[in-house]
Formats: sequence, C-alpha cells, structure tokens
Amino acid sequence: RKSVVRITTGSQALDELLGGGIETLCITEAFGEFRSGKTQLAHTLCVSTQLPIDMHGGNGKVAYIDTEGTFRPERIVPIAERFGMDANAVLDNIIYARAYTYEHQYNLLLGLAAKMAEEPFRLLIVDSVIALFRVDFSGRGELAERQQKLAQMLSRLTKIAEEFNVAVYITNQVIADPGGGMFITDPKKPAGGHVLAHAATIRLMLRKGKGEQRVCKIFDAPNLPEGEAVFQVTSGGIMD
Ligand code: ADP
Ligand code: MG
Repeated sequence: RKSVVRITTGSQALDELLGGGIETLCITEAFGEFRSGKTQLAHTLCVSTQLPIDMHGGNGKVAYIDTEGTFRPERIVPIAERFGMDANAVLDNIIYARAYTYEHQYNLLLGLAAKMAEEPFRLLIVDSVIALFRVDFSGRGELAERQQKLAQMLSRLTKIAEEFNVAVYITNQVIADPGGGMFITDPKKPAGGHVLAHAATIRLMLRKGKGEQRVCKIFDAPNLPEGEAVFQVTSGGIMD
C-alpha cells in the first residue's frame, strides 16, 4: 500500500490549512481570479517537491504541463536558492511540456505515465487544466462533449496520482456562468461543473489580499476543516 506524501507549499500557514501540504495520491485544484497566485504556487511546488522528505519535500521529480504559456524557468532560480538548492539541478528535474490543444494535453499524459514508470516523480502540474477545453469546445451545443472529454482527462490524472504516488496540482478558472445558461448564478464559481468537482479531492479557492498577500480558502475537501490561510507571493516563491 502506497503511503501519502505531503509536499510543503512554502507557507507554514497554508501547509497547516492543508494538513501538512499538497498530498500525493489525489488531485488538488486551485481556482481563483487572474493573479491570485495559482501559477506562483505551481512554481514553488516545482522546487519544494524536490526537497528531501525530512524537509517536507517529496524527494522526487516534477512534470509540468503548461496550457497557458506562463511557466518561467527563471522564476525557479530564486525559489531554489531560497530553499538552499542548486537551481540547475532543480531545473533538470522538471519535465516541461507546453500543450496547445486538449488532445495534445491528453497525449502528453500518456507519455508522462511511461516516464513515471521509470523515474521517481512526486508531482504533476497542469496549469490550467481547463483553458484548452474552453477554447476547443467553445461552440454552442459542445458543452456535453467537452465535459465528457474533460472527465476522461481527469480520470487519467487520478490514475497517475494513484499509480505513481504523485501529487496532481491543477489550476482552474473562475467563471460567471457555470451552466452555460442565461443567468449569472455565482461570479466566483470554478469552471468545469460537476465533472471537475467530482474529480478534484481538494479544492482551494485563491484570492488577492492586500499587496502581495493572497488568501487560500478550503472550498471542498472531505478530510479538512473549513478555514483560510494568508500567504505571500515573493521572489522566493510562496511564503508566510
Ligand atoms: P494566477 O496564475 O492565479 O493568474 P500568478 O500565480 O501568475 O496568478 O500570480 C501573479 C502574481 O504573482 C503577480 O501579480 C505578482 O503579484 C506575483 N509575482 C509574480 N512574480 C513575482 C516575483 N518575482 N516577486 C514577487 N511577486 C511576484
Ligand atoms: Mg496562472
């Protein structure tokens, strides 16, 4: 039986909210407005995952699927230095791929599974999990097909998490009208509807606070108490 590994976010407050950090064996979703820190958290996890277990890391490699073109290798450098790690070694252990269509995104996952069978990975990032679906299925009447393909993708992610004891961190957008209907029901709803709600074990809502402050709220998580944590986005990544 595989045992859960918890990977530090870089913020003690956020780690405590999460019961120790981002967990392997399941999907953690972060959604929130533009600039709420979803991608910066992804960058920090790229580094912290490589820390030894006794430093709250995962002692493993990272796979990063980027659908929005927002990964910045130069951001990894100060984050690695902040954790006292060699930046080049850290960058070498991040397998990066840019996806341009939802099919491309899916096929990348198949290739990654083969890689994970050979090397010790502890984190898979998909930033963002839904952007390409919203582009590729933007037409009227395409929602049902989109949701079906999205479900397929998410089930593949769950399988990877469980098979390789990997933490899957996905980011999601907020939308005004989740149902595609006529009425704005909740401007802070995550995209992806019930399909995403079902697949993501831990759902985090991020929002901006004062200055560099960000707030993370547990939106849905079966084993975590409700609560919020305040953290900062800095040059060295996520911090208290
Ligand atoms: P999201 O992915 O949720 O849209 P990001 O994770 O890209 O948001 O967060 C962007 C924010 O992160 C910026 O607005 C800025 O406040 C902060 N940020 C990015 N890089 C740095 C840095 N080098 N130093 C400090 N803050 C930064
Ligand atoms: Mg982003």
